[in-house]
Amino acid sequence: MRKSVKFDKRLGRQQIMVMITLLILGYAATIALSTWQILRQISTDADGHSRVAISAALTQEIARADAYVHALTHWDDEVAEAAVRHGLNTPHRPVQLEKGLLQADRAWIINDKGAALLTFASEQATLSMDTPPAAESLKMASQDADRHSGFDLRNGQLSIVSTIALPRSSELAQLVKAEQSLFLVTQSAVSNTVLARAAADHDPVKISIGQPPSAQVTLPIFDGNGRAVGTLYWPKSAPSFAMVREVVPVMLGIATIFVLLVLFLLQRALGTYRHLNRQARTDWLSQLPNRSALNMAVRTAMREEKIVSLALIDLDSFKMVNDYHGHKTGDELVRIIARMLERLASGDAMAARLGGDEFALLLTGPNSLEHLISTCDQFHQALRAPIQIGEASLIISASIGIVEARDVTSEGELLRRADLAMYAAKRSGKACSIVHDPALDRRSAANIALKDDLVRAMERDEISLHYQPIYRANARDVVAFEALARWTHPKKGLVPASQFIPVAEEFGLISPMGNKLLERCCREWASVGDVRLTANISAAHISRPDFSETVSAILERTQFDPSRLVIEITETSLVKDGRRAKRALDSLTDLGVRIALDDFGSGYASIGFLQKFHFDMLKIDRSIVANCMESASARSMLQACIAMADVLNIETTAEGVETEAQAEMMCAFGCKYLQGFLFAEAMPLTAAADLIAPRGNRDMLLRA
Ligand code: C2E
Ligand code: CA
Ligand code: CA
Repeated sequence: MRKSVKFDKRLGRQQIMVMITLLILGYAATIALSTWQILRQISTDADGHSRVAISAALTQEIARADAYVHALTHWDDEVAEAAVRHGLNTPHRPVQLEKGLLQADRAWIINDKGAALLTFASEQATLSMDTPPAAESLKMASQDADRHSGFDLRNGQLSIVSTIALPRSSELAQLVKAEQSLFLVTQSAVSNTVLARAAADHDPVKISIGQPPSAQVTLPIFDGNGRAVGTLYWPKSAPSFAMVREVVPVMLGIATIFVLLVLFLLQRALGTYRHLNRQARTDWLSQLPNRSALNMAVRTAMREEKIVSLALIDLDSFKMVNDYHGHKTGDELVRIIARMLERLASGDAMAARLGGDEFALLLTGPNSLEHLISTCDQFHQALRAPIQIGEASLIISASIGIVEARDVTSEGELLRRADLAMYAAKRSGKACSIVHDPALDRRSAANIALKDDLVRAMERDEISLHYQPIYRANARDVVAFEALARWTHPKKGLVPASQFIPVAEEFGLISPMGNKLLERCCREWASVGDVRLTANISAAHISRPDFSETVSAILERTQFDPSRLVIEITETSLVKDGRRAKRALDSLTDLGVRIALDDFGSGYASIGFLQKFHFDMLKIDRSIVANCMESASARSMLQACIAMADVLNIETTAEGVETEAQAEMMCAFGCKYLQGFLFAEAMPLTAAADLIAPRGNRDMLLRA
């Protein structure tokens, strides 16, 4: 069954989906990472914050102890009284004081050797220490600094020790009646409650003292002399659920806004992309898929291992339509042909325009070749009716090359084969379809081989000229010779022009070859007789911008009389590039060279050419001459053409006259000259020269 051929949009869509997914994943990862970073940063900030806060809380405790010990030296009368009341005792049995009297856990009066002279203990003392941290305290106190307090860490117990010199006049100093300097030392436990309160206020779960394990927040503590006595530590705060709850919604909000923005932009970009994609694959004039769309469709079908059939369609006389009816009509014709092909494709095949007057039909599926052939037949049928565009009624035909991709793996090769078949259709008379077969490839391979041989032949001067005489119709005497190229191939012998000239044209060898041959025939005939010489010039050659200058230079070099030279061109030259051809023909006419329109009636046979371009001669094609013997309509058409040429002052020559009957008929129609095998085939120079002046010319040639 036939399958519809559609654009391969999936590929683009898949790529876009992958792109979007990657983008979203990448974005989600970025958001997650930054959320984590933010949470980490918040935690680190929280740790720093707790360290500062706890340090401040402890400093406050120190300050309080400082203030207290200082006050105690002045306001010690109550303590002293209570001590007397409780009975002064040895330093080893502390005087128990009510909590209200002593706001430290313990207090000592010590001498300058550090020996305790009197010990006080608060009733609710929690400290188990009996001896004061004397030696260190003394150092601090004797410096008479503002600060008298510091931390003390012994037996795992954290306390604040304050030491201050006790004035002699103080009540407490009076109690011990000693001669030396005295000091007052107080010690207050930094109770777990204090730490717990700091912890509760500033987040750490629990503050510990000692050697911190890793990943903890640490805070070193110092005694009154600035010596480190230990470290407080507590666990680093992990991103807490509360933090997550605070941060994540914000991040999600930002993410959502961003994703929505990206999706919005993507959607717009996708729209633009689709539009551009459609534009890039659509031919602007016909609105059919273009060449790249066709290539893509072929590739996709091949990838899916479908059988692919392709028809390459080339309009036969599109150029003429453009030249004669203008580009507007040409454009309209393209649109009409496009709609015709679309209708014929009817959704099963893909109709495409490859550019200019080239179209294609693509069909996939097992029977696609047969269907395509019949679709192309319908197209030929449809073209039989004239196409009306404004005033113009156009008769259009198409040459079609069809190919089925049985053993083809690339779209390039498929197109190449279709192209080859299309050219074969053109060569075999146009307005038909030809299906590619291997013989075409072989022929084109043979042409390539022939081209290589031809290049060598030109270097070795193997190409020469034969001359076919042209006779006056009534007097039957020779008035001119047509120069026809002959190739004497070392192995194949004489190769006719009809075989190698098209190859030379195809491979771009025709201009150098044509120049060489033109120079040769002018030189050969410069001093032989006074007959005219007609030379064939190909379309590609005449359309070279320097053509007329080259001819002028050749005439100059060979001293050939321009009025004896006739240049024969075919309609192809005029169809290919009318404007340039006209310019070339006008300059040739200015040089004094005559122009003949060759093979008249074999191609487009547009009488319009005769009016548009200036011709001196018209050569009626061999096929017309032969036709006239059988067909009355061919006869009347030819008569009309000759009459028209007569009016335009154009002389006519009948080509390929093979029988006396043909000669007589052409003569009767008013043909002025005759040429053909009835009289003579093309011959070498010497034979040709003999024909016009048997002795004299031959002698001249031999001398030359
Ligand atoms: P053309 O210009 O139409 O030349 C006439 C062709 O018809 C010649 O074939 C000639 O041998 C052949 N012919 C002449 N009288 C008769 C006849 O009575 N019956 C038959 N059946 N054929 C006849 P040739 O030489 O093979 O040339 C073929 C074509 O190759 C020429 O057609 C011309 O278009 C081209 N050609 C030949 N020589 C040159 C050249 O030097 N340069 C270019 N550009 N083209 C050339
Ligand atoms: Ca000719
Ligand atoms: Ca001819």
